[in-house]
Formats: sequence, C-alpha cells, structure tokens
Amino acid sequence: MRVTDYFEKAAGQTLISFEILPPLKGGRMQDIFNVLDPLMEFRPPFIDVTYHREEYVYVRRPSGYYEKTAIRKRPGTVGICAALMHRYGVDAVPHLICGGFTREDTENALIDLNFLNINNVLALRGDAQQFESKFMPEPGGHEYALDLVKQISDMNRGKYLDPNIENGEKTDFCIGIAGYPEKHFEAANMELDLRYTKAKVDAGADYIVTQMFFDNKHYFEYVRQCREAGINVPIVPGLKPLTKHYQLSSIPRHFYVDLPTDLVKEALGATTPEARAQVGMEWCIAQSKELKAAGVPCLHYYTMGDAEIIRQIVEAVY
Ligand code: FAD
Repeated sequence: MRVTDYFEKAAGQTLISFEILPPLKGGRMQDIFNVLDPLMEFRPPFIDVTYHREEYVYVRRPSGYYEKTAIRKRPGTVGICAALMHRYGVDAVPHLICGGFTREDTENALIDLNFLNINNVLALRGDAQQFESKFMPEPGGHEYALDLVKQISDMNRGKYLDPNIENGEKTDFCIGIAGYPEKHFEAANMELDLRYTKAKVDAGADYIVTQMFFDNKHYFEYVRQCREAGINVPIVPGLKPLTKHYQLSSIPRHFYVDLPTDLVKEALGATTPEARAQVGMEWCIAQSKELKAAGVPCLHYYTMGDAEIIRQIVEAVY
C-alpha cells in the first residue's frame, strides 16, 4: 500500500514508522531483525531503509603506491526491503539517491522495485563524497532530487527513458522527499529551499519526511511556511533521541541542526552514560507527545543503533 494511503486511512490518528540502516558489509540480516522484532508490537505500517553509495578510499599497495578503491560499507537496501515485507507483512520504503546513479541505473533500480511489489520510495539527492567539496552527479545522472522525482513520475505515467517503449507498464510509486525545518545547509535561505521543495511536490512528490530536529517549534514553523508556500502534502516529523556524549557535536556537524540550550545543559549535567541516555529519551518523549497532540500524520523515528531506547520512547507515547 502507498504511504499516503496509510495516512488517509488513519483519518487523523498519528501513525508510527521507523528508519533503519543496512548493516555494515559482512553483517547479517538477523542483525536487522534483532533491531525490529521488539519494535513491531507498535504496528508500524511502513519501515524506511536508507541507501548508502560507495565511497572511495586510497589503499596502499606493496609497491608503495596508493590505489583509489571503491567500497560499499552498507549494501543491501533493496534485499532488506524485500525481507522486511516478507517477515513482517509491512511496507518497506527504500531510499533512492541520485549520487552514483546514471538515469539508466535509476530506471533499472525502479524496475526491480516495481517487480518486487515495492511501490514506495524516498527520493533523495545524497551528499557529496568525502573527497568532493560539493555534490557531483554521476555523468548521465541527476543533479537534484527534483530530477529523480521527475523520472519516477514519468514511470508512473508509463514513460521510460527509451522513447521506443510504447505502452510501458505504469508504475505506482508513492514518492517521499526530504524536508529541512532548519533549512538545507547548502540553501541560500529558507525561501529558496522551500521553492525547490515545492518544485519537487509539483513534479509528483506525495509527502515530506523532515530532517531530525530537537525543538518542535522548528517543525511547526516549517509546516506553516510550507503551507504558505503552497506545499500541501503531509509533512512527517523525523525524530531521534540524543543519547550519547559525542552526539552533542556529531549531530550538529552531520545534520546541520541546533541542539536546544536546555537539552545540552541537561545532557552535560548527566554524570553517567545511562543518565545521559535517560535525558535524551525523556526529551524525545516530550517532543513526540506534543507532536502527536498536534495531530501530525506519523512519528518517524531514526533508530540508528538506539532500538531499545526508541522502543521505550514509543511505549511511553502510545
Ligand atoms: P535536493 O532536494 O536536491 O536539495 C539539495 C540542495 O540543492 C538544497 O540546498 C536545495 O535547496 C538545493 N536545490 C534543490 N533543487 C535545486 C535546483 N533546481 N537548483 C538549485 N538548487 C537546488 N542520504 C543518503 O545518502 N542516503 C539516505 O538514505 C538518506 N536518507 C535521508 C532521509 C531523510 C529523511 C533526510 C532528511 C535526508 C536523507 N539523506 C540521505 C541525506 C540527503 O541525501 C542530503 O540531505 C542531501 O544533501 C540533500 O538531499 P535532498 O534530496 O534534500 O536534495
């Protein structure tokens, strides 16, 4: 079923969903089941699985030369989606990115998803690679998520890259996109960021999932600005608890979001790792309760190695 059909069916009730990362290469599918088994009692209608492109590292050869080598640390997004649907009977939402994909690669990936009966996808650009100063599309690939959304929408109309394909199967992808309550870090200002977000919606995006935020006022203000800009699709808040000391700097650095003064003060005041995790958990519970009371379509939790804490949060909220 399409993600937006779940929202409609819920008729104002707030749903729950989770995002998981594929395990590091060499890991087992059981690692994923161990994360999700305890969370399935909350009946998430869909689960997102992130996509990780290959990275390039320089490996020293016996000759002393360094060789540029491609590695994929977390492969398996599509296989995991199929396994989740099979084991839990839920819908899976694979993330699909522009980085590393030509248009042909994208088309083939979408054909695979369609044949697997996966008809939800979160369409993203992806980030620059470590050695790049800015995002570089694959030659023959997409520069912005907007172009990816357009390609998926084309396939939903039966339009494939090869103009000779007539009466191609019309796919039925429900298209999610990313939104940034505190602005995407590359955007000159919020107004421009929203203009590009609206272009994605006009091109066929069905709903938005937000970047994590730690102060609900960012989400409420973002929704207000979206509506004012004519963006009327459901906006799903993405949530993550701050549970570890290093996250006080890693979260702002990686996700370009602010940590509220009170949260930082409480986290710094905690004297043990357990006490710090408790602070982050309670903060996330309070955020979740307020968002639920405001009638958001879904609370979307980034599990990222915090499955037990997420379980306790959801238990406290539902
Ligand atoms: P875009 O919509 O293309 O926007 C990128 C930037 O370009 C923005 O600043 C925007 O304002 C600007 N822009 C957009 N269109 C235009 C235009 N036509 N002209 C000029 N400027 C424009 N990354 C992964 O690699 N794998 C994942 O699984 C993944 N999952 C994510 C899930 C969520 C919910 C979120 C919020 C992010 C996720 N990301 C993931 C990270 C994402 O790839 C990065 O944030 C990336 O930098 C931007 O992606 P986007 O789809 O928002 O890009």
